[in-house]
Amino acid sequence: MSSDWQQNEIVIVGAGLAGLFVALKLSPTPVTIVTSAPLGKGASSSWAQGGIAAAIEKGDTAFAHAMDTIAAGAGIVNAHIAHILTSQAASRVEDLLSYGTPFDRNLEGDLLLSQEAAHSARRVVRVKGDKAGWAIMKALISAVRAKSNIQVIEGYTAKKLATKNNAITGVHCWTGKGQHLFLRSRNVVLAAGGIGALYKITTNPKQANGEALAMAAKAGAYLADTEFVQFHPTAINADTDPAPLATEALRGDGATLINKNGTRFMANLNTDAELAPRDIVARAVFRENRDGRGAFLDCRDAIGADFETLFPSVYKKCRDAGIDPVTEPIPVAPAAHFHMGGIHTDAFGRTTLNGLWACGEVASSGAHGANRLASNSLLEAVVFAARVAEDLSQNTVFSTASKRNKKDQIEEIDRAKVILSNTHRKDIKEMRELMDHYVAIERNAQGLKHALARLTQMATKHRNHLTLSNMLTTARIITISALMREESRGGHYRTDFDHPRKEWAHRTYISLEQAEQAARDFLKPNRGSMQ
Ligand SMILES: Cc1cc2nc3c(=O)[nH]c(=O)nc-3n(C[C@H](O)[C@H](O)[C@H](O)COP(=O)(O)OP(=O)(O)OC[C@H]3O[C@@H](n4cnc5c(N)ncnc54)[C@H](O)[C@@H]3O)c2cc1C
Repeated sequence: MSSDWQQNEIVIVGAGLAGLFVALKLSPTPVTIVTSAPLGKGASSSWAQGGIAAAIEKGDTAFAHAMDTIAAGAGIVNAHIAHILTSQAASRVEDLLSYGTPFDRNLEGDLLLSQEAAHSARRVVRVKGDKAGWAIMKALISAVRAKSNIQVIEGYTAKKLATKNNAITGVHCWTGKGQHLFLRSRNVVLAAGGIGALYKITTNPKQANGEALAMAAKAGAYLADTEFVQFHPTAINADTDPAPLATEALRGDGATLINKNGTRFMANLNTDAELAPRDIVARAVFRENRDGRGAFLDCRDAIGADFETLFPSVYKKCRDAGIDPVTEPIPVAPAAHFHMGGIHTDAFGRTTLNGLWACGEVASSGAHGANRLASNSLLEAVVFAARVAEDLSQNTVFSTASKRNKKDQIEEIDRAKVILSNTHRKDIKEMRELMDHYVAIERNAQGLKHALARLTQMATKHRNHLTLSNMLTTARIITISALMREESRGGHYRTDFDHPRKEWAHRTYISLEQAEQAARDFLKPNRGSMQ
């Protein structure tokens, strides 16, 4: 880190697509990015396979894309936000091209577009089949490294926000070995990704552990729609953590889902068969596995011998797991993949706390409602990152001190709050199992209450350990919100309320205080339903 850095006027937490894009869009304004992992690592963005959705094909429109987004979100998408998302998509794809992303093109030089589930048109731009995330991140990292106004601090995890009078004053960060760094700033952007790693089976990197949501909630920000977690139907079932993904584009290109009897089980369940909305396909795959019939993605006819050329990442993941996708069906299982919920934000990424913005997967702007449309999340990351940058460039609050504050330094303190012991690791394992068992693809009041009771015990035990307390806070808020929503909608499926209910056709907003009150109510003996 440069010792003559003047000030941390703007701090961005997270270096995935959203964080890097905010920094680039703010250039030449000085910004500091702090990130848990080295650049390019520990970010879902680098692992994205399918691509980024934008209505750029002749005949397709941003309006049609917004309508598909709204339909996928099962009645609770914020339509204004969806129209912003889709109408700014083409310009953001242009930005990514200008930063050097080598999107695939056809022989005429036009961008090559692929079809994904629940899109009414071919509108997903991709790179070498399944390398979109990796290629976008590679281009953006080069662009960031070339900018002298962007300072990147790698290996520090933000765990606590400092506030005064409902406004942000800085971010406390730690390395895995307990070195502490306080970044003093009145303008903080959280771009720390998702929550998949709170679940035992996930496609997300381990850094996606929900700490940022807890930090924001503890500082007083509202969260939104936290009960809505998307499970990807086709993670490769190879007993690895995280679970490698077999992209939806394979189904877009004709791969089918079969059980061990060779029966194509989606064909009878939905008119769109394998390209039905993700929650429907994920539940079907879950049930085939649960009932012992097994679930497999059969790419033999649709992709066949071209697999390695067309989908090099998936091919490698399969071969690493001892599967040859050219000659045998790929065993698949659903895995926690994307959080529709997050820190409540408006159309410019502003949270309910002064000086705190959020964008990318950590935010909940209302773009996805109860279910995200495929390839809309990379899009959300760039569209709202650009809007956060636009807002910050007009509303940045400058500190009175122009020199680096003396508190911005590494101190060897508070190790006990962050270092993970064997007991902590054991409890994290149990938390992930509880989330997978009771707060996942099928939920009911009994299971959710059981999980909440145990998660609450663990949260009390670990209240002074920041990492555990943050993870457990987010896990509990997801569980509490899932208990409150007594219906089924999109990614949230309750076996005890298995239909949508019109009184629940709205988004939900929750503060930590409200969540704690609800937890106490739910855990009272003989507690009835919320409605
Ligand atoms: C396997 C996979 C495939 C996917 N495929 C697609 C796809 O094809 N199309 C699509 O649209 N979406 C896809 N998604 C979803 C999409 O990749 C993510 O939603 C999106 O990349 C999120 O970007 P982000 O910048 O918000 O978060 P991330 O890219 O996850 O970046 C988060 C950053 O924050 C850092 N971080 C986390 N916590 C902290 C902390 N407390 N302090 C400091 N740093 C922190 C992380 O290390 C990382 O740098 C996929 C996701 C996965 C996992």
